Parts: sequence; structure tokens; C-alpha cells
Amino acid sequence: MKVFKFGGASVKNAEAIKNVGSILLRYERDPIVIIVSAMGKTTNKLEEVLSHWASKNELKFNHTVDELRDFHNEIAGALFHARHHKVFNFIDERFESLKNRFDRPLAEHLPFEYDQIVSLGEVLSSFIISEYLVELGLKARWVDARTLVRTDNRYQEGNVQWEKTEQLITECLPGADKETDKWVTQGFVGHTAEGFTTTLGREGSDYSAAIFAYCLNAEAVTIWKDVPGMLNADPKYFENTRLLTAISYREAIELAYFGASVIHPKTIKPLQNKGIPLYVKSFVHPDEPGTVIHAEGSKDHLIPSFIVKKKQCLLSISATDFSFINEESLSKLFEVFYAFRVTVQLMQNSALNFSTLIDPQKVDVHELIQALSPAFTCKYNLDVELVTIRHYDEDTIEQVLAGREVLLEQRSRQTARFVIR
Ligand code: ASP
Ligand code: MG
Repeated sequence: MKVFKFGGASVKNAEAIKNVGSILLRYERDPIVIIVSAMGKTTNKLEEVLSHWASKNELKFNHTVDELRDFHNEIAGALFHARHHKVFNFIDERFESLKNRFDRPLAEHLPFEYDQIVSLGEVLSSFIISEYLVELGLKARWVDARTLVRTDNRYQEGNVQWEKTEQLITECLPGADKETDKWVTQGFVGHTAEGFTTTLGREGSDYSAAIFAYCLNAEAVTIWKDVPGMLNADPKYFENTRLLTAISYREAIELAYFGASVIHPKTIKPLQNKGIPLYVKSFVHPDEPGTVIHAEGSKDHLIPSFIVKKKQCLLSISATDFSFINEESLSKLFEVFYAFRVTVQLMQNSALNFSTLIDPQKVDVHELIQALSPAFTCKYNLDVELVTIRHYDEDTIEQVLAGREVLLEQRSRQTARFVIR
């Protein structure tokens, strides 16, 4: 059994879905679990739907739902020639019931409603794609991950309950059904013990692929992307990027942690635990080998990798009463960070000062500073950049820093990090 994952960009329109079909036809006889994301920007649009519901803006709510309905109908229209095909009914029913929500009062806990609504993107894409594969003559079946991936009740960021999930997945797949060898299901979604839908966090479909692979002891996972594999830098910021042909699980986790956005950071651990290799391949050039992430790490150090995070905030914190930064004050600081769910991306301290880098898109910096006062005073620099270089050498550092002002730097044997502006 293999697991394939197709993200939002690989199913963003009918052409893209036809390409997915042509990739799967190459594996006509192989048993494959296929995990799909919502099509294109559907998840963002569904988030808008929720916010229009929450702000009771019926006009915008209806408008956004209609846009989404048209978008899905148009894609289905290009894939299925029979107007009475069951996908059209499926799409209409889902959007009808989404529209009917508007007159209901919202649950007090908004993340609950988020998951019930936003999961729709994956439900639709998986159904449409599964039916399309059947049209192509593949032995495909739609599987509902909302009955298989069991999570706790933490909506929007469900924690997987592995034992139960493994039991549910292995009971359902591959099953006695000899008529199927392609199971098409949703990334990103799960369910609670009470049967309510949960989601696993934005961009969580990679993680779903790892969950299914782990439970089924899959031979490999392939994530199909619009890039040739894992590159050593983001082509948006660097020229002459290089393909990392083989890296270790450890290296992949480090790169994801430092901010490389190719795979969701939670994806690696379940695969590492079972020694399942992860391939990252291009859906445009499916013959090219792409990247393999596996246990072996002898090539990890060969190519330096660059990770850039723009628009970060450098916070410089000191105790108001001029006391030292010590274990006691640090634990107070981290209590506040934890309460605000701050991701501390980097930290450094001196006798009187603690510096850290945070992402102002994810935390309200002013509220955080408010919460730290009056015990601490804070200065901050908005709009700084964090550059991480794995397996650096002096030449690459010089190139990256040319003409920039360094506000803070850290080096370990493998990794150099610079806060610059
Ligand atoms: N559709 C979800 C998102 O856009 C999950 C995913 O694509 O991985 O965040
Ligand atoms: Mg995605």
C-alpha cells in the first residue's frame, strides 16, 4: 500500500485534476490511499463564510457561498459530461445545507463551528476526484476520513488519538472489497468521540497522509507538489536553488522547524517511527525523482539550506526594576508566552536583557507587551528578517548578509541564524 497526497494547488481547477488522473493512471494496479486537500483557495473562502456568519452579514455570506458553489460546479462541469451525474447533486446538497446554517445561532465556541464549516472543502474535493477516477476506469472509492481519524475535542487543532485511529483505519481499509484499489479521502479532517468533525490545523493534509501511512504500515508516502522536490531555498528569494535529493527525517524536521514551508512539521514523526520513506515529487514532471526523506543522513551536510522569515518582530525585554534576567524572571516570561501561544523562534539573553523573535502575524505584539507590564519593559523592532543557514560556510554567510545590518546572531555547528534588516 502506498499513500499519495495532492495539495490544494494540484487540484485547483479541472486541468489540474485531469493531471492528477493521469498520474494515477500510471499506477493503475497499485493499491493507493489518496489524500486530497480542498481545491485552490477554498479553505480561505470557507473561513470568510464563517466570519460573515459570525458578523451576521447575510449578503456577504450568501455571496461567498454562491462563489464557492459556482467554483465547484464549474470544475465538475468540465470533468463530467453527464448533467445528471451524482456529483452535481452532492455539491448542491452540501451548499444548500451550508446556506441554511445562517439562520441558526452560532455555537459559543467558534472553533467548533470553524471545523464543521471549513472541513467542507476537503469533503467536496475528495468526492469529485474519487468520482472522476471512476470515470477514468480506475477502481476508486470515496472514504470519509471524518469517521476514521479520531482526535480529542480541541477544535481547529485536533490531537490525534492514535490507538483508536489505527483501529478505525485498519477496520475500513483495504477491506474485503476486491473492487477497489484507490481509496480517496480527505486531508486535514478528523472527528471526536461524539462524532463531531475536527480539523488538524491549517496545511494539515500532509499530516493526514502520515497518519494513514502509519496506521496502514504503508511502503511509502508521496507528496505531489508544484516544485521539483525539497529545494535548499525558496525560489521566491534566492536564485540558483538546488534540489535536496535525499535528506534524513531529522534534517527534514529541522528545516520545517526553522520555517521551510514544503511539508507540514508534524508529518515526519509518524513516518520516522515506522521507517516509512517520504517522497516529495513534482506533479508537473512526475518522472523526475524529487526528494526522498528517510532514515539515512549521509548527504545532509552537502548542500547549505537557506530559510528566510520576513516581517518578524524582535522583542527586547528587561525587568522594570533593573533586576537580572534569571531563572525566575524567565519562567514568568515563558508563562506569558505560553498563555499567548507565542512561538519563540529564537532567544538570547544578557544580564539585564532578554531578546526573542516572534511572528506578529500570529500574536498581537501590543497585547503581549501589555501582559508583560508592569514587571517588564519591552522595546521592539517590527519588520526584521530571520535568516537561517543550515550547513553554512563563511562564503554563504557573507553572500546572505551583504549590505544588511545584523541585529542578532547565533551559530551552532550545523546552523547559523541572523536577525537582519
Ligand atoms: N485545506 C487545508 C488548508 O488549506 C489543509 C491543507 O491544504 O493541507 O489549510
Ligand atoms: Mg495546502
